[in-house]
Amino acid sequence: LTTTDLIEEHRICVCVRARPLNKKELTTKDLDVITIPSKDVVMVHEPKQKVDLTRYLENQTFRFDYAFDDSTTNEMVYRFTARPLVETIFERGMATCFAYGQTGSGKTHTMGGDFSGKNQDCSKGIYALAAREVFVMLGKPNYKKLDLQVFDLLNRKAKLRVLEDGKQQVQVVGLQEREVRCTEDVLRLIEVGNSCRTSGQTSANAHSSRSHAVFQIILRRRGKMHGKFSLIDLAGNERGADTSSADRQTRLEGAEINKSLLALKECIRALGRNKPHTPFRASKLTQVLRDSFIGENSRTCMIATISPGMASCENTLNTLRYANRVKEF
Ligand code: ADP
Ligand code: MG
Repeated sequence: LTTTDLIEEHRICVCVRARPLNKKELTTKDLDVITIPSKDVVMVHEPKQKVDLTRYLENQTFRFDYAFDDSTTNEMVYRFTARPLVETIFERGMATCFAYGQTGSGKTHTMGGDFSGKNQDCSKGIYALAAREVFVMLGKPNYKKLDLQVFDLLNRKAKLRVLEDGKQQVQVVGLQEREVRCTEDVLRLIEVGNSCRTSGQTSANAHSSRSHAVFQIILRRRGKMHGKFSLIDLAGNERGADTSSADRQTRLEGAEINKSLLALKECIRALGRNKPHTPFRASKLTQVLRDSFIGENSRTCMIATISPGMASCENTLNTLRYANRVKEF
């Protein structure tokens, strides 16, 4: 990959990232069914069975702007996804970068950094890498007058309400906004946000698989918004068990997650086709991101994360089909 590969002309970039087989998959001798034969192609070798019960692998090929294999670092993913968007917010634009995929596929690892081991390190996540670059840009003479703020949607899991005021502006009630002066300030906030998201949960994924985390960097000039970068670690896209759950809350949440992921796809598609009508009203997530889908200078990047194991094949194919639809015009 070279920097000349950076897509400048596209408003929408869709990439896929496969993680390595993890310990659990290695222990259960799960097979890696993903190959990435070139920098923009991903192949899934799906296990199938004929009528006479003989088994075979069916190859399915998908093409994206970039396909990152399991040896790709976060820095490399960042360079081709979020980094080209940093410029957008300095040019009065709106930038959005999503991680989309099933629980355990690597969304938080990509966006937030490594929270798996004892030494939690968020410095290599896309949130931190983007924030660092924003501070570098702020040091340049042209941009010295801009203020930077970070929004935190994870205010101790307080219920946030999405309201629309008379001027059709969406307000999120209970949102915390902090002014930050350096990358370290941002790293601290990411850590606080992440611990809020996982505290009181038996597994780190229990809450985060059922919530969208939205991290926003906002540039202001004399109090007025200049540009906004929204970085989003979406809820896991697997919703099978929800619909049959005995728990009403689980079913309702599952329905809202489904609705928001479908609405998100349609909003990005509308942005790509310059359609006058953007269906952002269909979910809370897309309402919160409303102005990111309608501006003249809006750009979006989606990183579809996939688990490589055969056991995850169905979810992986669902993720790739969704990502494919985002770019299909
Ligand atoms: P998600 O947020 O999609 O549920 P995580 O980001 O928490 O998934 O990833 C699940 C596990 O896999 C974590 O232990 C994480 O550290 C590990 N992991 C994810 N992506 C990678 C990668 N590209 N390389 C190495 N480990 C990874
Ligand atoms: Mg996660």
